[in-house]
Amino acid sequence: GSTLVIKDLHVAIEDKEIIKGLDLEIKPGEFHAVMGPNGAGKSTLASAIMGHPKYEITSGTVTMDGKDVLEMEVDERAKAGLFLAMQYPSEISGVTNADFLRSAINAKREEGNEIPLMQFIKKLDKSMEYLEMDLNMAQRYLNEGFSGGEKKRNEILQLMMLEPSIAILDEIDSGLDIDALKVVSKGINAMRSNDFSCLIITHYQRLLNYITPDFVHVMIQGRIVKSGGPELAQRLEAEGYDWIKKELGIED
Ligand code: ADP
Ligand code: MG
Ligand code: MG
Repeated sequence: GSTLVIKDLHVAIEDKEIIKGLDLEIKPGEFHAVMGPNGAGKSTLASAIMGHPKYEITSGTVTMDGKDVLEMEVDERAKAGLFLAMQYPSEISGVTNADFLRSAINAKREEGNEIPLMQFIKKLDKSMEYLEMDLNMAQRYLNEGFSGGEKKRNEILQLMMLEPSIAILDEIDSGLDIDALKVVSKGINAMRSNDFSCLIITHYQRLLNYITPDFVHVMIQGRIVKSGGPELAQRLEAEGYDWIKKELGIED
């Protein structure tokens, strides 16, 4: 497993500060949820960690097992074991889903140590079956014409195939019907081990009925303002975010 440490992170978009001093430590095997109202900066946090060029880290550090993540190229971050599921996964035309997965797996392995084709196919079939996916999805072009639910399910397939040590899942639950939500949760829960930790970013508590986080953090206006256990998510579902704002004297 790996440890991700974020210290006093500040992130700006087009000179506007969005993340205003954020601290978070994720240890091997831990599931953390970050919840917060729209516009709090949750997606900005995910994108900044993954190195999206639009997001400028103005100060602070992000390390993985002591190594500076912010110094790494985007592909090096993936190779180091970080995984990001995007809120809006993009289409890559001309590349089948299976080809994409195989090259992504091989990109993480040493040259000359590529995954044997049969081993890849077996793992792919097994994972797709587990996620109740139509096997034809493997031969379709990545995300092209995928429904919202198929894209999300496909991201969990990527997660299971790539076996990252730390995953950041941004609104993996948005737009899912209850059956798709259950399958997506099943896939994430199947990853639970000491070698895997995850940061689940969500606006709604619903997903956390199926995936029990070890820690819940509330993000408001670019900062984590409160942390607790799963019961915190339940209180947010019942009462919204206003009581926290009131408690901490945060103005809208
Ligand atoms: P959340 O995911 O919590 O809803 P975001 O991180 O998407 O919040 O957005 C935080 C703030 O940053 C919002 O005020 C949003 O308008 C702004 N923002 C996010 N992405 C961009 C962008 N690409 N360009 C300009 N402003 C952005
Ligand atoms: Mg600060
Ligand atoms: Mg968002």
